[in-house]
Amino acid sequence: MLRRVFTLAMSALLKRERANSTLSSTNPPMMNPSPLRPAKKTKRDVQFLPNKIATVENAARVDKDPPAFRLEELMKQTIKNPPMGDAVVYWMRMEDLRIHDNRAFSQASAQAIRDGIPLVAMFILSPQDYVAHDRSARRIDFTLRNLRAIRDKLASLHIPLYVDSHTPRTTLPSHILGLLSQWNVSHLFANIEYEVDELRRDIKVCELAKKGGRVRCTFVHDRCVIPPGIVKTKEGRGYTVFSPFFRAWAPHLADKPDPLACAPTPEPNAKLIHDHKTFGELFHRTIPDSVEGFELTTEDAEQMKICWKEGEDAARELLHRFLYTKSRPSQLGAVDPLSDGSKVAEKNPKDSRVGKYNTARDRVDADTTSRLSPYLSAGIISARECIRETMELSNAKAKKVDVSRETGIGRWVQEVAWRDFYNHVLAFFPRVSMGRPFQEKFADVQWETNEGHLQAWKDGKTGVPIVDAGMRQANTMGWMHNRVRMVTAMYLVKDLMLDWRLGEKYFMETLIDGDLASNNGGWQWSASTGVDPVPYFRIFNPYNQSHKADPTGEYIRYFVPELAKVRGDDVHNPPAKLAEKLGYPTPYVKHNEARERAIKRYKNPGQA
Ligand SMILES: Cc1cc2nc3c(=O)[nH]c(=O)nc-3n(C[C@H](O)[C@H](O)[C@H](O)COP(=O)(O)OP(=O)(O)OC[C@H]3O[C@@H](n4cnc5c(N)ncnc54)[C@H](O)[C@@H]3O)c2cc1C
Repeated sequence: MLRRVFTLAMSALLKRERANSTLSSTNPPMMNPSPLRPAKKTKRDVQFLPNKIATVENAARVDKDPPAFRLEELMKQTIKNPPMGDAVVYWMRMEDLRIHDNRAFSQASAQAIRDGIPLVAMFILSPQDYVAHDRSARRIDFTLRNLRAIRDKLASLHIPLYVDSHTPRTTLPSHILGLLSQWNVSHLFANIEYEVDELRRDIKVCELAKKGGRVRCTFVHDRCVIPPGIVKTKEGRGYTVFSPFFRAWAPHLADKPDPLACAPTPEPNAKLIHDHKTFGELFHRTIPDSVEGFELTTEDAEQMKICWKEGEDAARELLHRFLYTKSRPSQLGAVDPLSDGSKVAEKNPKDSRVGKYNTARDRVDADTTSRLSPYLSAGIISARECIRETMELSNAKAKKVDVSRETGIGRWVQEVAWRDFYNHVLAFFPRVSMGRPFQEKFADVQWETNEGHLQAWKDGKTGVPIVDAGMRQANTMGWMHNRVRMVTAMYLVKDLMLDWRLGEKYFMETLIDGDLASNNGGWQWSASTGVDPVPYFRIFNPYNQSHKADPTGEYIRYFVPELAKVRGDDVHNPPAKLAEKLGYPTPYVKHNEARERAIKRYKNPGQA
C-alpha cells in the first residue's frame, strides 16, 4: 500500500514537473556564468552566502598547516588544573549523536565522577553553518529526531541535554564560553570534527578558554576507527592512494591500547540534579520541531521517518540484520528496513548480506548493503562498533578483524576503511573542503554551463534510465546506493560536462547521509580530480553500468514509472520512439561523443 502511495505521489510530481520543463536539446537554456552562485537568490542565500571556492594560495596555506593538527597542538597548551567548577560539559555535535561508545561523552563522565560534580550535555544548532555546508533539510530533521531520542534516554541517567540555537556562527566560540562561565564549568569535552570551519571554531574555543583560565578543553578523536595522524607515509604525510593506506591502516587495528575498545557509557548523575536551580531547569527545555530554512514537507518528513528511524537501537538493529540475515529481494522507496520479513541466515553466516557482500554489493536491484551511512554520518553508531561486531561474526576466538578482499566481511570492513581514508584526507589536505580540486592541474577544466541539463540531472529526467532512477531515489529516499552515486556523478561530470561541485552541492542538499569527507571524496573520485581517482579517460558507459548493477531492471522500473512496463534490454536504453510514446525524455548527449569531449577537455585544461 505504502509503495503504491509512494509511486502515485511520485508520478504526479513528475507529471507536474514535466509540464514545467524548459528542456530542449537543440536550444538549451543557458546558465548563469557562475553556476555555483544561483542568479535567483533564495531565502537562504539572502541570509548568508559564503564564498565557496578558496584561492589556490589560500588552499595551499591551509594545507601547509592543517587545522586538525593545530588543534592537537593547542590542546597540549590548555590549562591543566582549572579551578573546581559546578559541572562538566560534553558538547555533542552533528556527527556524534549517541550515548554508547562515545569517547568525549565517556571522558566527560569520568571527569564529572572524579570531581563529584554533575555532567551536562549540550548541543548548539548553528543554522549558518548548515547553510555554509549545504546541509539537507533531511539531515537537520534527522538530527532533531535523534536529539529527542537522546534527550529521553539521558533523562533516565539524570543527565540534562541543553539544546539551543546560535547565530551568527562567527560568535559561536564566545557564546559557548559565555555558557560555560554562566554554569561555572571546569571542563569541556567534545569529539573532533575534521571540517576546516569546525576546526577553526574549536581552535577559537580553546584560545578563549586558555585566556579565561577557568575551563580545560579536551577535543577527542572519535569519528574514525584509526584517528588521522596515526596512519602516515614514510615522509610523515597523509596517504593519497587507498590501497597503501589500507595496508598501513589494517595493522593498527591490533594496536595497544585497543583502538576498537568500547568507550564506557556515561554514569548517571545524582537524582538531586533535578532540584538544582540552574541544571534542574535544563531538563525542561524543548527541542525545536525544525530549523528555519530547513523545514521538510509533512509528506517528506513522514517518509524519512519510515526509511530512517531515529535512535541508536535502530542503528544497532540495522547492523545486526546486515550481519545475520539474508538479503531480501528489494527494499526500495518508502519501506521500513526494520520491518518483518528478514530471514536469519542460520545455517551458514556466509548466506547473510554481509557474507555475500564481496560478490553482491554492486547490485542495486536487491537489498545488498547495510544502509548504515545515515547512522555513521551522524555518529548514531560508532565505526568501532561496526568493526567489533564483524569480529564476533567472523572469528570470535581469534579476536582478529577480517580484512580480506576475498570475504564479504573483509570487503565490508574495507568500505568502512574508505570512510576513514576520506576523513584522513580531509584532515591532512583541508583544501578538499575549500572547493578546490585535490589535483590542482584540473582546476581549469572547462565546464559546460547548461542550466537545463543540470536541472534534468537533478530531477532524474536525463533520458538515461539508470541515472534517472538514481537521482529519483536520492530525491525521494534521501539515499542512494554507492554504485548509482558513482554512475550519476560520472554522468554529470563526464557526459554533461558540468562542474563536479554542482553535483557535490546537490548531493549534500538532498541526502540524509550527506557527509563532507565521503561526499567530496566520491565526487572528486568520479571527476578524476581527487586523491586516488578514477583516471580521467576511464569513463563509465552508463548503459553497461546499468546492465551490471540492475540486471533485472527492477530498480529502474521502480523509480522511473514511465518505464514500469518495459521489459528486457530496452529498460536500460529505451529506443527513441518507445521513449516518446511513454513520455520519457531522450538523452541530451550521445555517450560516445560526450566521452571524447571530456577526454579532450581533461587533456587540455583551460581549452574548450
Ligand atoms: C559521488 C559520491 C558521493 C557520496 N556521498 C556520500 C555521503 O555524502 N555520505 C556517505 O556516508 N557516503 C557517501 N558516499 C559513499 C557511499 O556511496 C555511501 O557511504 C554508501 O552508498 C552508503 O550505503 P551503505 O551504508 O549501505 O554502505 P555499505 O556498503 O554497507 O558500507 C558501509 C559503510 O562504509 C562507508 N562507505 C562505504 N562506501 C564508502 C565510500 N565509497 N566512501 C566512503 N565511505 C564509504 C559508509 O559509512 C557506509 O555506511 C558517496 C559516494 C560517491 C561515489
